[in-house]
Amino acid sequence: MPRPRALARLAAAGVALAAATAAAETPARPPGFVDEARIRNADAEPGAWLAHGRTHGEQRYSPLDQIHTGNAAQLGLAWSYATGSTRGLEATPLVADGVLYATSTWSVVFALDAATGAELWRHDPQVPRYKGRDACCDVVNRGVALWQGRVYVGTLDGRLLALDARTGEPVWQVQTVDPKRPYTITGAPRVVGGRVIIGNGGAEFGVRGYVSAYDARTGALLWRFYTVPASVEGPHEHPELERAAETWSATSLFQSGLGGTVWDSIAYDPELDLLYVGVGNASVYNRNQRSPGGGDNLFLASILALRPDTGKLVWHYQTTPGDQWDYTATQHMILADLEWGGRVRPVLMQAPKNGFFYVLDRATGELLSAEPYVDVSWASRVDLETGRPVERPEASWSDRGQAGVTPGIGGGHNWHPMSYSPRTGLVYIPSLQLFYPFFAKPDYVYRPGHFNTSEDWNALATSLEGLEEAARFCSPSHITAWDPVAARRVWRVEHATAVPGGLLSTAGDLVFQGHGGGVFAAYHARTGARLWESPVGTGIMAPPISYAVDGVQYVAVLAGIGGSHGSHRIRFANANDGQVLAYKLGGQAPLPPVRARPEPRVDVPRVSLSPESVARGRALYSEHCLRCHGFGVRSSGLVPDLRHASRATHEQWQDIVLGGTRQAGGMASFADVLNAADARAIHAYVIARARHEPGFWERLAGWFGRHACVPARWLAD
Ligand code: CA
Repeated sequence: MPRPRALARLAAAGVALAAATAAAETPARPPGFVDEARIRNADAEPGAWLAHGRTHGEQRYSPLDQIHTGNAAQLGLAWSYATGSTRGLEATPLVADGVLYATSTWSVVFALDAATGAELWRHDPQVPRYKGRDACCDVVNRGVALWQGRVYVGTLDGRLLALDARTGEPVWQVQTVDPKRPYTITGAPRVVGGRVIIGNGGAEFGVRGYVSAYDARTGALLWRFYTVPASVEGPHEHPELERAAETWSATSLFQSGLGGTVWDSIAYDPELDLLYVGVGNASVYNRNQRSPGGGDNLFLASILALRPDTGKLVWHYQTTPGDQWDYTATQHMILADLEWGGRVRPVLMQAPKNGFFYVLDRATGELLSAEPYVDVSWASRVDLETGRPVERPEASWSDRGQAGVTPGIGGGHNWHPMSYSPRTGLVYIPSLQLFYPFFAKPDYVYRPGHFNTSEDWNALATSLEGLEEAARFCSPSHITAWDPVAARRVWRVEHATAVPGGLLSTAGDLVFQGHGGGVFAAYHARTGARLWESPVGTGIMAPPISYAVDGVQYVAVLAGIGGSHGSHRIRFANANDGQVLAYKLGGQAPLPPVRARPEPRVDVPRVSLSPESVARGRALYSEHCLRCHGFGVRSSGLVPDLRHASRATHEQWQDIVLGGTRQAGGMASFADVLNAADARAIHAYVIARARHEPGFWERLAGWFGRHACVPARWLAD
């Protein structure tokens, strides 16, 4: 185990390198000067966190062991930094040469002194606030990449920016998407050999997925791999799409773009020279409407192995052929070398949304193992001979019109990164036990700008309102410690919140995780015993990292809840002021104060409502509004709870919804998809919900935290 080197630190005022005894050992170099050799030799710099998953293989394991199972109870806050945000924070910070680089909401980038939290610079790329409407799951960003003195970030409006790591000043920017379509970028770029790899999101709205490589120096596009064809007949942009086109019917809804976005997971194996990307769900969930009579619909819900210099496909593995449940394979992928049947095999591990934990030979794509890591109702098993899941026919809502399944639409595991400890041989999964009822809409037609999942929103909203009234509904999250060789769960820690945080494991045999309940904690990596916790007030989703400066080990994490908060059915208790929190042994810094969320006021207009208008409004609200304002008009609190809207909001309703008068605050105009009567119907539904729900949150608080609370009648057998 190499000892953490004393790292050269930046003075807050500039970039003067501190005189250090380590100077001879650590050559002076410009800030953020990370290159291929440094990332490949990351274990020689255990005090740094140079790339998204620390290494190209993305194990999210820190070799630092100053903090260990014997002293974790002495952890205390070293410093905190207020990000100035009140929505979701999902970034993994990077640390190089004593500087911490991370991102906040709306793709804002900042650099801090990693030992003190002092801000060195901050860059706001000025994302137009109307883009918030195109973000399925909040205006989040998952972090930056570093390369030769530059900081790379993808912005919510689809740009890729290169910033000077010394100042935060832009060096170049390119638009990576068609701005006329509802693309977003929330994922972190990766840099492989001077190529910046970046994908995008937007499948729920109607986009065509792809991953691109740009020259890190100039921003020139080097290659682009489309994950789905634009047509069956072609011409195709690259030969792999000819093969993919054979798995789509000629009457497929190609105008929807068909999705398959690469919105998060990327990993790289330098020895095999393979770049792995995870591909998401389709633009239209109902497979009979998406591709009538079609087949597997490649390359949806797949893991792709590409050549990083050309973008050529070497192998692919599809986790959910012909997906209809939003079972993306964009979840975090970990590369490791495991003892397998008497020999060491290079493997790729993923726990995608569909609930099975996959181990693939990463040289060939051969499936080695696929066992459920949470309860799975949509398939009975994965056949290791064919590599295909054995679907349960009763789970096919495309065929049956409706079906409830687990894992639900949020997955058995979502974007929150896992961690693999080579010391314990365990993969730590931030898992979820969710449930979701799908309802088909027989008269669904693709409409640009709409939420094009093809679900019947009125049926879904009615069922969920009824479910919440009639039954306890909760969705606990966990840490699942998984033995990938034995394909079994070793231990599990359960949280009474539906929001797990990302994970970190360390050479001190610790696992760190925060969660939506506003707690950051350390667990014993071998047993799951909780050894330390810090109530921070603000909910945590982001993954922690560990680094060292001047021989002191830190563990840092961003606190700020959000994500797909519209569907959480939870009201967050405080104002959600975003923070970077850094802990060390004996840290004495005070926790930043937590602002309470103001008590809701009720000022509901006294108007008569027609049942027809309310029903129409429910469907329109559920399609267009619930992602931010919440199922059944029960907001998480991160955006206004419309049941508690002010008199002014009610009076200006049409101007806000159609005229865009509150665009600067993130509420875009919906005039392109709603007419005046539509907006009035949504208003009627909101008023109806406001009248029906006094005391709702008090009742929910009583349910919150209970487990196993989904009625059996909702689950496919
Ligand atoms: Ca999705």
